[in-house]
Amino acid sequence: MATSPAPIWEPTLHPEAAEWLAVADDAAERHFAPLAAEIDEEQRYPEEHLPVLRDTRLCAMFVPAEYGGTQLRLEAIAAVTERVAVACASTSAILAALSLGAHPLLLAGTDEQKERYLTPLAGEGRAVCFALSEPDAGSDASAVTTSAQREGDGWRIRGEKCWLGNGGHSATFIVFARTGEDARGGITAFVVERDGAGVVVDRYEDKMGIRGTTTTNLRLDTWVADDARIGAEGGGLGLALETLTVGRVLIAAQANGIARAAFDAAAAFAVERETFGRSIIDHQGVGFPLADSATELSASRLLMYEAARTFDGGGDVRVLAPMAKLYASEVSHRVVDRAMQAFGGRGYVKPWPIERYYRDQRITEIYEGTSEIQRLVLSRAIRHHARQGSAS
Ligand SMILES: Cc1cc2nc3c(=O)[nH]c(=O)nc-3n(C[C@H](O)[C@H](O)[C@H](O)COP(=O)(O)OP(=O)(O)OC[C@H]3O[C@@H](n4cnc5c(N)ncnc54)[C@H](O)[C@@H]3O)c2cc1C
Repeated sequence: MATSPAPIWEPTLHPEAAEWLAVADDAAERHFAPLAAEIDEEQRYPEEHLPVLRDTRLCAMFVPAEYGGTQLRLEAIAAVTERVAVACASTSAILAALSLGAHPLLLAGTDEQKERYLTPLAGEGRAVCFALSEPDAGSDASAVTTSAQREGDGWRIRGEKCWLGNGGHSATFIVFARTGEDARGGITAFVVERDGAGVVVDRYEDKMGIRGTTTTNLRLDTWVADDARIGAEGGGLGLALETLTVGRVLIAAQANGIARAAFDAAAAFAVERETFGRSIIDHQGVGFPLADSATELSASRLLMYEAARTFDGGGDVRVLAPMAKLYASEVSHRVVDRAMQAFGGRGYVKPWPIERYYRDQRITEIYEGTSEIQRLVLSRAIRHHARQGSAS
């Protein structure tokens, strides 16, 4: 009998993506999956994964070759992120945050800045943290009040940042600070080193999910030289938004990975578990929701890969990336929820993994722009396009 086709769509990957997916697959199987429940339970950053990320060169995938990296196409990074998320959402979030920290330097850093911060990231996995959010500036990034004022031949930076992914394990922060009055054009990016005077990390969040990551605040009353500025004065918000656009493809990958883990577990369970004399998958109440999950997850992966490949081809992903993130995170919500229902009571308790997927998944609808903010970005694009159409 011919084997039946897999229920979840699989991409035909670019050879580079296929090669690195195999690397991620091996690391995920041998190192990340076995520790996923433990680091969640203990809310512990997995220090033991750092040598793995170094030896496999997975931490180098965001960094160009001239700074010791392997700089992969986004398709490959997305494939790796998705595979790692199947095994351990926290580890995939650690990787995604590395990308977020590196990207402003890739976009606008000087050679010296790249050498100084990207080389240790590629070689040793030393994290660079993306520090945009503040207690009163999350969705509205243009509302940042952290200030940078000229002092001598450098800048005095004062303020508070919060919700910083990898914050507890970063030696370097990319801080977005106000240098002018203009809401959008008055923000500039700076590199701030953790061991500088007046740089304090004094709060670690106690999180619902992705508990293997450290999420911290950052208090600043510090001075940096002018060569700590990344790009032009006033160019910070543009850098942040461009970084987040790429980051959203990786959050889509993360959401798809968590959904995949939940779907696979639920499908296996639904075949094995019997009630009323048959496998529960043969009750339509269980089998049909799994069919919906397979369909939606396949569509979500198609969208994510299309966004990544469009980016790799030099295309504009300002619509595709938020769409991929919005869709993947909400599909992931539904897929994990259906998996929990299929597991019955076992979905709700440890050691079964579904309750962890349920908690881990939820952040994908919040960070790097909430679902509402993705809809806002998309509705603005629709408005712009429609106005152009009516003007022509
Ligand atoms: C675990 C974790 C890790 C994070 N990592 C980082 C990081 O590494 N770096 C970083 O800079 N930030 C990070 N963040 C911050 C994250 O991006 C913000 O929490 C997020 O953007 C939402 O901002 P907020 O929490 O201030 O919510 P708010 O902006 O206060 O929003 C509250 C609610 O109002 C809604 N809302 C706001 N404005 C609108 C609107 N115009 N229309 C419709 N609805 C709206 C939002 O969608 C949300 O539901 C992280 C957050 C968490 C929880």
